[in-house]
Amino acid sequence: MEASRLYSTKRVQSLKPTKKIPLEEDPTKASDALPLSLHLTNAVFFTLFFSVVYFLLSRWREKIRTSTPLHVVTFSEIIAILAFFASFIYLLGFFGLDFVQSLVFRPSPDVWIAEDEEEENEVLLAKEDARKVPCGQALDCLLPPLPPAAPIVTAQKVFDEKPVTVTTEEDEEIIKSVVAGTTPSYSLESKLGDCKRAAAIRREALQRLTGKSLSGLPLDGFDYESILGQCCEMPVGYVQIPVGIAGPLLVNGREYSVPMATTEGCLVASTNRGCKAIHLSGGATSVLLKDGMTRAPCVRFGTAKRAADLKLYLEDPDNFETLSVVFNRSSRFGRLQGIKCAIAGKNLYIRFTCSTGDAMGMNMVSKGVQNVLDFLQTDFPDMDVIGISGNYCSDKKPAAVNWIEGRGKSVVCEVIIKGDVVRKVLKTSVESLVELNMLKNLTGSAMAGALGGFNAHASNIVAAIYIATGQDPAQNVESSHCITMMEAVNEGKDLHISVTMPSIEVGTVGGGTQLASQSACLNLLGVKGASKETPGANARMLATIVAGAVLAGELSLMSAIAAGQLVKSHMKYNRSSKDVSKGSS
Ligand code: ADP
Repeated sequence: MEASRLYSTKRVQSLKPTKKIPLEEDPTKASDALPLSLHLTNAVFFTLFFSVVYFLLSRWREKIRTSTPLHVVTFSEIIAILAFFASFIYLLGFFGLDFVQSLVFRPSPDVWIAEDEEEENEVLLAKEDARKVPCGQALDCLLPPLPPAAPIVTAQKVFDEKPVTVTTEEDEEIIKSVVAGTTPSYSLESKLGDCKRAAAIRREALQRLTGKSLSGLPLDGFDYESILGQCCEMPVGYVQIPVGIAGPLLVNGREYSVPMATTEGCLVASTNRGCKAIHLSGGATSVLLKDGMTRAPCVRFGTAKRAADLKLYLEDPDNFETLSVVFNRSSRFGRLQGIKCAIAGKNLYIRFTCSTGDAMGMNMVSKGVQNVLDFLQTDFPDMDVIGISGNYCSDKKPAAVNWIEGRGKSVVCEVIIKGDVVRKVLKTSVESLVELNMLKNLTGSAMAGALGGFNAHASNIVAAIYIATGQDPAQNVESSHCITMMEAVNEGKDLHISVTMPSIEVGTVGGGTQLASQSACLNLLGVKGASKETPGANARMLATIVAGAVLAGELSLMSAIAAGQLVKSHMKYNRSSKDVSKGSS
């Protein structure tokens, strides 16, 4: 796993948070410790203060009038003096509450790391960095004023969050019958009509059956109705994956904050650094070359001649219109683009390609293919359909057909990184990067017999974005096919880098994209759901963003390797010093 790699340790060390950050990010206040509301407490202490002052002054006047020594005090006067001091101290705090809070919540001195030795460069780059979205810590850029805080929407507010307890007698009976095998676990949702209760009961039954605890796997905080019949069967909880933000990524003149769901230290920071280099160089250009999902059934005949007859029929341009009318009738969005056949003896593999709007499109293309197969049975009654998918599609397997022909969205993305940025942000040189790319991504991968693997770690970025945005993570296999090219340009001063990715399979409707968390990540990118203007525009834009983020990831990791920082950074950010043997119970 050539993953994680680095972000220059030096830049991380140079982090200098402005004093605003801790206060704005941390909602805790000194006043939170008060037992009453702040207004009420203020009123009580103000009244107390003025009452005791009035009381003590009148006692003082009385003592002068009766010539009583001042040091002779009654019990009520002692109480009044104590109350005076208490309320006085409180009022001092009232007028200087911010001062108190700054004492309480001053950031640890560790955060205020010493100046970077290259501060001059940092200042220069920060000035040039016109990015508008708050940057991650690895960027050390100036923070713009934050917009008014949006209300925090917690999972509890999104759906019914009543914790489920499986302690009723009825539940206990159901658990026992699941354990005994009399009630099938898969039938719980339909039997109970309550997906969360079904998950809780299944989970309890599973723990009893296996004798293993699932205590670390959360049950509450998830909408089990939203996955029913679509995303996951027989749920017993959900896995939490942190989502980090890389960016802003400037692609085709627009800025994107790229959500990345990962547990791999360094990955987000490294991609973030690549985004910075791209931004400082004026942004990347990402071009969509092709957009078509494929499905290839396998059909068999009695002879190779009959298989060849069908191949010729399907590839004859005169028959295309008839076939597309048949193909297109099951969807408003699936439109047949082409058919490509491959013969293996008596067997024919028919690769249909179609546009799929904003859906990734596997269901859509499969329905269209089924229409055509049914239609063909009339003229080719001897055709035996072996399977709707004959692996010539090719889905979720490394395959040259995708690398050469493309599948889903084919995208090329490029940027010219200024020599200054290569030196100051990426901490390397144009020459070293070009040489490393040639020897590693091109020659090294050729030596390894790579298939679409002419890159440093495209799959890292693709997988993280796919998980965050509800794509099918298994399609990372072909979606990560990528060739990274680097060349010195402008008399060797600057670096031209591009990534060419022929098979980015993404959608913004269907599958996991409609789930609350994933849909929030799509929303962040501005590509949530179906495009209202042009069907397919959202999915296509998502593909260009994926390619842009891969470009950023390639730039940063390659630079880390060129600068020899890889291992150092990996040890620092991807090796936890925590004692993992002390897992939570
Ligand atoms: P997939 O084909 O990727 O497996 P689904 O079949 O789950 O996706 O989802 C696609 C569904 O969304 C179809 O029923 C389709 O009619 C509907 N849909 C709505 N708007 C769009 C759109 N703009 N593009 C594609 N599909 C859309």
